[in-house]
Amino acid sequence: MMPLTAQDKEKILSFLESRLEPKVYDTWCRSLELEPAGDNVYRVPTANPFYRDWLEKLLRKPLEDAFSNLFGQTPDLVFQVHASTGYSEPPAPRAAAAPPPPAAVEPMPVSPDFVYNPNYTFDNFIEGPSNRMALAAATAVSENPATLYNPLFIHGGVGLGKTHLLQAICHEILKRMPAAKVLYLSCEDFVNGYIYAIQKRTLEAFRTRYRNADVLVVDDIHFLADKEGSQEEFFHTFNALHMAGRQMILSSDQPAGDIRSLTQQLLSRFRSGFEARIMSPAYETRLAILREKADARRVEVNQEVLGYIASIVETNIRELEGALTKVLGYAALAKRPVDLQLAQEVLRETPAPAPASLSIAEIQQVVARYFHKKVSDLHSRRWTKSTSQARQICIYLCRKFTGTSLEELGSHFGGKDHTTMLYSIRKVEKLLGKNASIRSDVERLIREITGK
Ligand code: ADP
Ligand code: MG
Repeated sequence: MMPLTAQDKEKILSFLESRLEPKVYDTWCRSLELEPAGDNVYRVPTANPFYRDWLEKLLRKPLEDAFSNLFGQTPDLVFQVHASTGYSEPPAPRAAAAPPPPAAVEPMPVSPDFVYNPNYTFDNFIEGPSNRMALAAATAVSENPATLYNPLFIHGGVGLGKTHLLQAICHEILKRMPAAKVLYLSCEDFVNGYIYAIQKRTLEAFRTRYRNADVLVVDDIHFLADKEGSQEEFFHTFNALHMAGRQMILSSDQPAGDIRSLTQQLLSRFRSGFEARIMSPAYETRLAILREKADARRVEVNQEVLGYIASIVETNIRELEGALTKVLGYAALAKRPVDLQLAQEVLRETPAPAPASLSIAEIQQVVARYFHKKVSDLHSRRWTKSTSQARQICIYLCRKFTGTSLEELGSHFGGKDHTTMLYSIRKVEKLLGKNASIRSDVERLIREITGK
């Protein structure tokens, strides 16, 4: 077939436009190139292997249909990394005879409460001098995966926005390329999955799962500290993905060089891309973040109150948010306006709202009654969603009002260990932030408990 004329190309594009989602068409087809490369063979040049695979998935069929509809012939399409991008193909191209990966891979156990947080988007992320570099790198990666910074390694202290940024990248990539295999997980899940796979002799499936990802995002990679076996496994995963031109994004609460007993080979991999640090935000950024969080909850909070909160919580954004939640929660309970005086009362000292005599047993009774359960359900290992949620809320309230240690608390809930207690408390804290009906249950329970 002849080289395509401008008119042919026009026709092909309108055919694609009629077939594809407008957004997909706008993003991927407007700059589409088709180069003749032999008899009825066309090359589709792409910037890197990631886009190659992506475009092929997305466009091969519609393009073939376009040609056969318009010119009566199905062409041979070759999706190829463009030489001028400076990207050299790994020595063993993926197109080689390797058998296709098994379609269904046995799911690995992942931490039960993992979900993408829909609020962790770039739109909701406030930029400031402390996070500007990290944000810029994250944005660049989400716009051009596997091109610039690979791996992107974001590090910074606890509660400074690493998970938020990582998930924002995932959201953004999925928005642009809904079919991309974006795998987000905590490093702990990786380690647990690895141990599980060894036990169950399912290493092959474990590896396939990670090595099939287009984008692999591993949160809290410092969890690899002192874990030689997992480090070794991750090293191979890393290399396989890097060779295949896939994007990796990692976060850590320490710079790569400070992660304890990290092998030299892994350290050099982590440093081979781009390391961006997030620092503690300055006052102005803290204030802007608080404003954003208040707006997100659709509550009016005046500048004076936000300024006060921003001035006393200095390092950790999670705590900053927690302080705002506390103030708003207290105002709602006490039916008072959110003003400076109230904020000062709430945040100046740690409030001890419960009468000292309150016992765990009493709280359990209140909670059981409220949720129409038996107190024994709160002790049992029964796992229906409503029972386990009632149990978690009860654990949360007992901890809040009695200050009992986690170990001891466990003994009041059927002999569970302290990590289960901690998990329950964290779970409820998380839910309070995003689930209005649970928030109102807890508020009512608090009223009932403190009213005793
Ligand atoms: P890390 O993973 O670093 O411990 P997170 O990403 O979980 O921290 O952030 C803690 C909280 O602070 C989250 O609710 C997050 O939305 C919020 N946060 C952090 N940085 C920002 C920011 N720049 N703008 C808006 N919210 C932020
Ligand atoms: Mg985090």
